[in-house]
Amino acid sequence: MNMVKNKKRIYLSSPHMSDNEQAYIKDAFDTNWIAPLGPNVDAFEKELASHVGVKDAAAVSSGTAAIHLALRLLDVQAGDKVFCSSLTFVASANPIVYLGAEPVFIDSEPETWNMSPKALERALSDAAKEGKLPKAVIVVNLYGQSAQIDEILSVCEHYDVPVIEDAAESLGSRYKGKASGTFGKFGIYSFNGNKIITTSGGGMLVSNDVEALTKARFLATQARDPAPHYQHSEVGYNYRMSNILAGVGRAQLEVLEDRVEARRSIFERYYQELAYIPGIYFMPELEHTRSNRWLTTLTIEEKEAGLSVESLLQSLAEENIEARPVWKPLHMQPLFEGAAYYSHSESEHVSEQLFKTGICLPSGSNMTEEDQMRVIDCVKNSLRVIKV
Ligand SMILES: *Cc1c(COP(=O)(O)O)cnc(C)c1O
Repeated sequence: MNMVKNKKRIYLSSPHMSDNEQAYIKDAFDTNWIAPLGPNVDAFEKELASHVGVKDAAAVSSGTAAIHLALRLLDVQAGDKVFCSSLTFVASANPIVYLGAEPVFIDSEPETWNMSPKALERALSDAAKEGKLPKAVIVVNLYGQSAQIDEILSVCEHYDVPVIEDAAESLGSRYKGKASGTFGKFGIYSFNGNKIITTSGGGMLVSNDVEALTKARFLATQARDPAPHYQHSEVGYNYRMSNILAGVGRAQLEVLEDRVEARRSIFERYYQELAYIPGIYFMPELEHTRSNRWLTTLTIEEKEAGLSVESLLQSLAEENIEARPVWKPLHMQPLFEGAAYYSHSESEHVSEQLFKTGICLPSGSNMTEEDQMRVIDCVKNSLRVIKV
């Protein structure tokens, strides 16, 4: 299969620059605001906060750093419990481990693929009985899809447990008209290279608690006490975003809505071309929400479609097309062996099923229609080949 080399690679989700990044970078150079911090950082924070409708935002070096800071602000300590969606990227849960706390994983529900409110309710009820409620619940909005936020917030309010919304994949999405990432006590976004907008690497912590974000900035700059000399009373981090990267972020934020439109159109085309095929089921979109459709994802019922996810991934790879299985649930990861886990119901392990049958198709906003037709043809051809 040497054909691979002759065909242009189609990436899952590659960076898509506007034309404006260079202007902000040049400004940083012209004024010698290279590092640390600077006017682009302040402006990026204000612009993002205003875009999503929160009081404040703190620009940091990654989405993971933002989660770590949120957990610190909620006073998560060694031995504490933190609940987290199981079907997600490992970065959602790694900061729990950084703090020596214990993750408890919550399964998905079928409507959104995100945290099951039913499983969460059982987990919180058990924790309350044990007298050891979690310090936080990290709820993830997978692939741009909003979780069942109202249900989750209401269970968490009942037990008085704060919510951190991991909106790394859902910047630009809306739930009942309000921006994804703005529902919990804290929200986090990621500007990693494959996200809907990117600073090459970076993240943002958002909240309506301005005081907490002031503390976040303090922790993110080595927790330096106000004193003429270097004095420190608690552990800090080197987590702030540089003024150059914030310039890239400002230009990217200007085109966020275009990027959402582009990814939604890509989803629409996949849907038009493939949804009729028996055994192929696209990730639904929860009512009263608008997903950014960061990645188009679907499940393949092998018996109906006559094709497994593994063989489709193989066929796509042979065409030099990058596709991925859905995240492997964290409760199945060797790293988290022995961690507590609550399934959707006694018999339904929704995240495990999604892992077995799910696939993410290339969805970058800079994909051409021609690129996309290559992916679609490959899917169709794989189905035909298997069926003959
Ligand atoms: C990308 C991602 C993160 C981490 O963001 P980084 O900026 O790469 O640290 C966290 N959670 C989810 C769900 C992600 O997809």
